[in-house]
Amino acid sequence: MYRTHNCGELRINKLGTEVTLSGWVQKVRKLGGMTFIDLRDRYGITQLVFNDETDAALSEKAQKTGREFVVKINGTVTERSNKNPEIPTGDIEIIVKKMEVLSKSEIPPFTIEENTDGGEEIRLKYRYLDLRRPVVQKGIILRHKMAQEIRNFLSNKEFLEIETPFLIKSTPEGARDFVVPSRMSDGKFYALPQSPQVFKQLLMIGGYDKYFQLTKCFRDEDFRADRQPEFTQIDCEMSFVEREDILTTFEEMTKHLFNKVMNVDFPNAFPRIEYDKAMENYGSDKPDIRFEMKIHDISKLSQNKGFKVFDDAEYVGAICAEGLATYSRKQTDKLIDFVKRPQIGAKGLVYVKYNEDGTFKSSVDKFYSPEDLKTWAEALSAKPGDLILVMSGEKSKTLTALGELRLEMGERLNLRDKNKFAPLWIIDFPLFEKDEETGQFHAMHHPFTSPKPGEFNLLETNPEAVKANAYDLVINGNEIGGGSIRIHNTEMQEKMFEHLGFTKEGAEEQFGFLMKAFKYGAPPHGGIAFGLDRWVALFNGSDSIRDVMAFPKNNAGRDLMIDAPAEIDEQQLTDLHLKIVK
Ligand code: ASP
Repeated sequence: MYRTHNCGELRINKLGTEVTLSGWVQKVRKLGGMTFIDLRDRYGITQLVFNDETDAALSEKAQKTGREFVVKINGTVTERSNKNPEIPTGDIEIIVKKMEVLSKSEIPPFTIEENTDGGEEIRLKYRYLDLRRPVVQKGIILRHKMAQEIRNFLSNKEFLEIETPFLIKSTPEGARDFVVPSRMSDGKFYALPQSPQVFKQLLMIGGYDKYFQLTKCFRDEDFRADRQPEFTQIDCEMSFVEREDILTTFEEMTKHLFNKVMNVDFPNAFPRIEYDKAMENYGSDKPDIRFEMKIHDISKLSQNKGFKVFDDAEYVGAICAEGLATYSRKQTDKLIDFVKRPQIGAKGLVYVKYNEDGTFKSSVDKFYSPEDLKTWAEALSAKPGDLILVMSGEKSKTLTALGELRLEMGERLNLRDKNKFAPLWIIDFPLFEKDEETGQFHAMHHPFTSPKPGEFNLLETNPEAVKANAYDLVINGNEIGGGSIRIHNTEMQEKMFEHLGFTKEGAEEQFGFLMKAFKYGAPPHGGIAFGLDRWVALFNGSDSIRDVMAFPKNNAGRDLMIDAPAEIDEQQLTDLHLKIVK
């Protein structure tokens, strides 16, 4: 037998018990006539003691074990004279009588403790060692717990977990597909699903009116911060539902998770904010509403006073950063640099300090009198001591830039507390997005999303104005989930494909099977998918989803541990009917 107990469970009530423990050697110390080992497994750490005098050979054996050796010991639980209140087993130690080295270890490339000295690349290369660290375990265990709660909740509501295939044909979530060459069909390829979207719709047609699945999705996207080429969705779909049914069901699921996992309760309904409002007030369709600092349109107040930059702009907007009127020139210059960074791409930033004594000092004092600036302050409900930051230009770009600046100021003012959660729904997204260069419409969500009821007729006359029956769940500035009520008839779906620039043949070739299925009795349906990785990261207080994946890839999509992607040999290429062209 390898163990009677794990390394985290023995307490003072077990004094005198003979136990067998197995685990990893975290540390070996020699102190006076004693040798100590901290023995670790995923449950905790237990101190082992070897008396150099009573059994010199055993003590010597203990001293010869190195970090990360795997050992099995037999011994007796005794009370520690020098208790360690930092760990749950800190009142006891094991007087070892027998020890067996089960496995030796090379010296690990980084320290396997809460705080490690290893950089991310080396930890990813030796991920199995990194996984031994308690901080990493915490994320993995949390992930399990959340998955379990999701399954409980949905199963109790009669949802069925149904698997859908990975080797399929392209799915339209707007990214590039990963493809898999087929050996059996010369020159043909499978695509890996960007999501199970079409399959879950086919399941609705198949009569499985409540479906969910925790599943991998694959998207070949260019490097963007904190993306993974494969990630996990909680994918859900329901039949005979309207938007309200979906929002109610999944708001309840969200509250259930918060309650069971985080011990946080939300007695009120989540706020719902229309997409247009979110953009206008927060410059983002995933606003962080843990703090206010709304964006205000001050175009009317600031134009036609001789300041050409504002006069020529489509839009002038501002935010108010509370209490920051004391910012020095250097600090405001730094902010200007911040908004000029390519990620934000603004040309500049105007600041107005509303001083404690009620006077104003701004970077545009030449053009605006204190009375003018006072009207801005009033529009923003700014108080003496506040700093007003103004940006101008093309409306949507300026709003986005102000949105970024708002987040930065929120960060600086410590308004983005990781222990505070602010969930909300974004609703009424536009149905289409227009490609600025080609003028082509793209589906903002995906091509199966239905317009809002009552907006069907607008599709012909003013497609840009059509709102989609789509929604996102946003928590603390993260898009945690998104979905829509779907189109469920062939004519409507055909019209949609047409608007998206598909030829009849193109649509038929890619989605003919779905259109055909719609002809055999498709129930009204809708659904949503949540990003499990991001949700766990959020609950875990992690900035990166890599922290909560057992075997993540690095930022360039490489698995540094198994060294993938990698070349394949000539024979495999031949079997797959492929030739590499350099
Ligand atoms: N398939 C969609 C996505 O991956 C979610 C949905 O519409 O249910 O974003």
